Amino acid sequence: MLQVILDELKLSGTKLVAVSKTKPAEQIMEVYKQGQRIFGENRVQEMAGKYEELPKDIQWHMIGHLQSNKVKYMAHFVSMIHSVDNFKLLKEINKQAQKHNRIINCLLQFKIAREETKTGFDIPVARQMLEDEAFSNLRNIKICGVMGMATFTDDLLQVRSEFQKLKSIFDQLRQDYFFEQPAFKEISMGMSGDYRVAIEEGSTIVRIGSLIFGKRI
Ligand SMILES: *Cc1c(COP(=O)(O)O)cnc(C)c1O
Repeated sequence: MLQVILDELKLSGTKLVAVSKTKPAEQIMEVYKQGQRIFGENRVQEMAGKYEELPKDIQWHMIGHLQSNKVKYMAHFVSMIHSVDNFKLLKEINKQAQKHNRIINCLLQFKIAREETKTGFDIPVARQMLEDEAFSNLRNIKICGVMGMATFTDDLLQVRSEFQKLKSIFDQLRQDYFFEQPAFKEISMGMSGDYRVAIEEGSTIVRIGSLIFGKRI
């Protein structure tokens, strides 16, 4: 299955985060042996344990809702944090990255879904942060783009319109705040059920779990 997905992604130049949450190290190694190096997790402690156990050339992406007090457990190794949804969290990531003399790649998560359960910035709050002087003083984080999760529904028209919304947020922010920063280039959207739609709407990173690893119990 992995190879089928990778062949599909190749055409559009989209990167794959293989979402390995709840899956054991042995199963991750099977996918690793097929060449995959980017894995995504949604819980810090679980990711930190797998980081210790598994090959060190794996790039670990944090994709789940994140509490500030957990950042310290992954600041020494995390490759990208997709789920930055408030300023306080970003400041904490910067602080912990500084301790390890690193720059941590971050995506700003936007709320595009109808569901109340999904967190994220809205445009005004994001603008407020990006215009804050304290933001421009953060030297140990790099904002690489945006992330969003569509509503959990079979209605792919709804999903498509939410992905279009995220793409338009990305375009606005790039124009207004990141115009001369080529690092701001990622749109992380699309999961097992909707990644094809996401790619059509401009996704640069898809996060796929169950299609690769099988259903989670
Ligand atoms: C679990 C998860 C995914 C992957 O979901 P699948 O439907 O298994 O592909 C993607 N993104 C986030 C944020 C997740 O928590």
